Amino acid sequence: MLLLGVAYYPEHWPQERWETDARMMQEAGISVARLAEFAWSRMEPALGRPELDWLDRAMDLLYKRGIRTVLCTPTAAAPAWLVQAEPDVLLQDQKGHPVSFGGRRHYCFNSESYRRHSDRIVWAMLERFANDERVAAWQTDNEFGHRCYCPRCAEAFRSWLKHKYGTTEKLNSAWGTIFWSQEYSDFSQVPPPLLGTGGNNPGLHLDYLRFFSDSIVSFQKRQIDLIRSADPKVSITHNTMTMSIYDDMDLYDLCADLDFASWDNYPMWTKDAVAPRSNAMVADYARSLKGKGMWIMEQQSGAGGSRAFGRFPSPGEIRLWTYQAVGRGADTIVYFRWRTARFGAEQYWHGILDHSGLPNRRYEEVKHVGREFSVLRDPLDTTSLRNRVAFLNTYDSRWALSIQPGNAKLDYFGHFEKYFSPLYRRGIGADFVNHRTDLTAYPLVVAPTLHLVSDELAATLTEYVKHGGTLVTTYRSGVKTVDNQVTDRPLPGPLAGLFGCTVEEYQNLEQMPGVEVTLGDELGGGIALSSVFNDVLTLDTARALGHYAGSHYSARPAIAINSLGKGTAIYVGFESEQGFYDTFVPWVLSRAGLPLPDLLPDSVEHTVRQTDTHRVHFWLNYADTERTVDIGEGGTDLLGKAPARGPIVLEPLGVLIVRETT
Ligand SMILES: [Zn+2]
Repeated sequence: MLLLGVAYYPEHWPQERWETDARMMQEAGISVARLAEFAWSRMEPALGRPELDWLDRAMDLLYKRGIRTVLCTPTAAAPAWLVQAEPDVLLQDQKGHPVSFGGRRHYCFNSESYRRHSDRIVWAMLERFANDERVAAWQTDNEFGHRCYCPRCAEAFRSWLKHKYGTTEKLNSAWGTIFWSQEYSDFSQVPPPLLGTGGNNPGLHLDYLRFFSDSIVSFQKRQIDLIRSADPKVSITHNTMTMSIYDDMDLYDLCADLDFASWDNYPMWTKDAVAPRSNAMVADYARSLKGKGMWIMEQQSGAGGSRAFGRFPSPGEIRLWTYQAVGRGADTIVYFRWRTARFGAEQYWHGILDHSGLPNRRYEEVKHVGREFSVLRDPLDTTSLRNRVAFLNTYDSRWALSIQPGNAKLDYFGHFEKYFSPLYRRGIGADFVNHRTDLTAYPLVVAPTLHLVSDELAATLTEYVKHGGTLVTTYRSGVKTVDNQVTDRPLPGPLAGLFGCTVEEYQNLEQMPGVEVTLGDELGGGIALSSVFNDVLTLDTARALGHYAGSHYSARPAIAINSLGKGTAIYVGFESEQGFYDTFVPWVLSRAGLPLPDLLPDSVEHTVRQTDTHRVHFWLNYADTERTVDIGEGGTDLLGKAPARGPIVLEPLGVLIVRETT
């Protein structure tokens, strides 16, 4: 259900203020408040002495105003008394140094002692708030994402390895430990991948990243199990920092144990400051973690900043970001934060209200959105996005590339974005799936730099294509085995049969100019300039769609297309400038039998949420000038409450939401 919320920290303000806050929230249409995140020291001032009356009072005040609580487990910030009593709960960095108390996220996920402290505070909260109608949901911890390299984690890693490999002989073989005389005769000899050892074994390093992802997932699972044991019906989520921010865990694994996915959406953190396309891609990624029912658990509502300020959202931007998230599948938007803190490390991290707590233009804008949500709630109920294009990404590939990118300019998700952009500019939606997803619903799957490929994944993709799917992959695919060794097969390793070609030579372009690629007639002719890597192809059953036009491999194939069964597999041996993808992606869409909508006006975004019976269109204008969109037969302008059809003028930063007439 479409709801509006805020992250609220009542412990930061005098209790006399709480009633004013609750009233102002109610007046803005807020019906969810996220509480207790980071409040451990106030909820348990000393070991085993929970003090939750204040939280109960705050929840009561809010509930009387129609505002339910998202309760957070506070474990992202272990209190000083705990760290003083048990300093070994602190994590150690990759140099083996313990971090000091004074920030946040300073604990070791594998500390059994810390897990027991977590059990105790979560249980204390459950004793008070389980099966409580005031509670809308629980949030585990906050923004999971750090790795620890302490002796305890090293020991847990060794147990994980023993379970995985059984014998050191198998481990030695998987990692190739004969290199630099690293063969292990006992699991107790295996170190974590610390810095300063002259380069860690890539097999060891990847296994540590897998192990650590499992450690975070199991830390969260313990909290989830505890919550479910006391309150089986309540929904549980976690606020992820999706895609490019934290890769410390496999978010598909983390979200598998949750009822719905949440992410923290800070549009002005994307690489181009405010880049709606990049943010759209992250939103699609976050939604794909669970499919539907996504929440934005922190939606930017002011300038970010700790030492210095970020840019403040212009009038209309908070509303625009809100509808971008809703249009891409978010059902609840929780703004971060209600009021800007006067103290602490984030005192310049602005929320809706400034430090003064007085109503301001951002408050009025949220209030406006609150009124609109009451109109949109019913038409959007049970709607979701139904996409027919998927991007395949795996954490194994991502982690293997993070350990050895091969080229400092290789930007894994930047590469994805080049394929995403032509879709975005036409309002074509995409899901971000992983190796366990059933691909049959997607006529087109794009898997840029599918670097680490198991035989099982290769077989899955082959079956997908044989049954009619269209698959695109790119340079440096199929290079690594599951052990993070380089395959001894001609590249792209287990994918060679599927793509009907092999890589006879590859060229890193990090310190070299790109090479021109002559595109064949099917791609409209013309020239593309390669970058990052060139894979020089030898064709088997495939045929060429383009050839290199320079270097010693001039006239050698650069793009190959292979028919297999009912489907098609295309290998693009290079990365290029955006112009290539603007031509190539529409051509692939047509080949896959998918519709090709017209390009949207510059700076306009279009998405559709639907059920079996109706469709709701979102048109967003990110420009500071008007844009005109042609909505054809149109339908009902839900916010204007009037029929709408044909060309419609979107005002600067404007939003148009139309329920299609059926
Ligand atoms: Zn540790």
